[in-house]
Amino acid sequence: MISNESTHMTKTKHDWTKSEILDIYNTPLMELLYDAATIHRKHHDPNTVQVSTLLSIKTGGCPEDCGYCPQAARYHTDIKGNDLMTVPHVKAQALRAKASGSSRVCMGAAWRNVKDGPEFDQVLEMVRTINKLDMEVCCTLGMITENQAKRLAEAGLYAYNHNLDTSEDYYKDVISTRAFQDRLDTIDNVRKSNVTVCSGGIIGMGEALEDRAGMLVALSSLNPQPESVPINALVAVEGTPMAEMEPISIWEMIRMVATTRIVMPETQVRLSAGRTEMSREGQAMCFFAGANSIFAGDKLLTTPNPDVGEDMAMFKLLGLTPQKPFTKVSQPKTLEASESQLQPLGEKPKWSRPGHSIERNETAKAKPKPSVSTTDL
Ligand code: SF4
Repeated sequence: MISNESTHMTKTKHDWTKSEILDIYNTPLMELLYDAATIHRKHHDPNTVQVSTLLSIKTGGCPEDCGYCPQAARYHTDIKGNDLMTVPHVKAQALRAKASGSSRVCMGAAWRNVKDGPEFDQVLEMVRTINKLDMEVCCTLGMITENQAKRLAEAGLYAYNHNLDTSEDYYKDVISTRAFQDRLDTIDNVRKSNVTVCSGGIIGMGEALEDRAGMLVALSSLNPQPESVPINALVAVEGTPMAEMEPISIWEMIRMVATTRIVMPETQVRLSAGRTEMSREGQAMCFFAGANSIFAGDKLLTTPNPDVGEDMAMFKLLGLTPQKPFTKVSQPKTLEASESQLQPLGEKPKWSRPGHSIERNETAKAKPKPSVSTTDL
């Protein structure tokens, strides 16, 4: 059980240890739920849930080797890639998302890192366009420099997503094309702009409980802590190195959400991938334990997600209300391209390439391509 002192604390703690976090995670469930819900109510309206729509603005063909990801070009999954979406297409999708109750659009591009040039300029225009619709705009574009983060901020970006994915120790078993430190460096670059940070991870990738705790140590030690922390359950996709992973149980998700809420009381904890496998009762327990954000829409980049109508019916049943945009942080101002104070620097930062061998990633890469493509994104 968590001490009264920590349950009722008001100061955010940045020096959680792995063993303290494991103790919280392993608390008898009723105590854990009570403690997490108490902290949740102290910092957030428990009947409000922030709703984001995730839009894949550039799908597939990614040069990275993330073991969980069907968008990595080296694995033979049946996703169909697309080039960067046009600004009008993105605007139409954002308007649809707004009409169905989303306050935020998160645009994802399957890139290793952002490169200055026409495609990034197009993304900046997307950011300006959505911010002018009075919606929060988030991007997840891979690794970025400080100058790129500041240019996104100028365009009106509200949040930048860059997940730590797992613990530093387990990271090398999941990805070989970049290092954990690269993730921290990008988050640091985002923090040098006035863009908020969204960073979380995935459970169910074969990691130990210590790795889940290790990821929360890394996230909670950031100062300030991320404004939003997505907790994903692995969606095991055929053709990826993690295709054979057993799904996690709802109890693991509830414990992870509750623990995240306790160690990061101010953050919005987002129930992310894997919700299609969760019952309404399971999701309700996650909301009780401190989750206060979801991704809406029937697709999360490339994996399935509950239909928005189903989510709104669940909200009605539970008496939940979608959070209005800019409730936590005020709306950024958009500078037009012609007013920009910043120039593209054409930098070529040396993001690392550890290049070590991960057996299951190598095995997936060596598998033959499926002969028929059946899934249309
Ligand atoms: S998770 Fe992102 S960086 Fe990794 S392979 Fe997928 S698209 Fe690329």
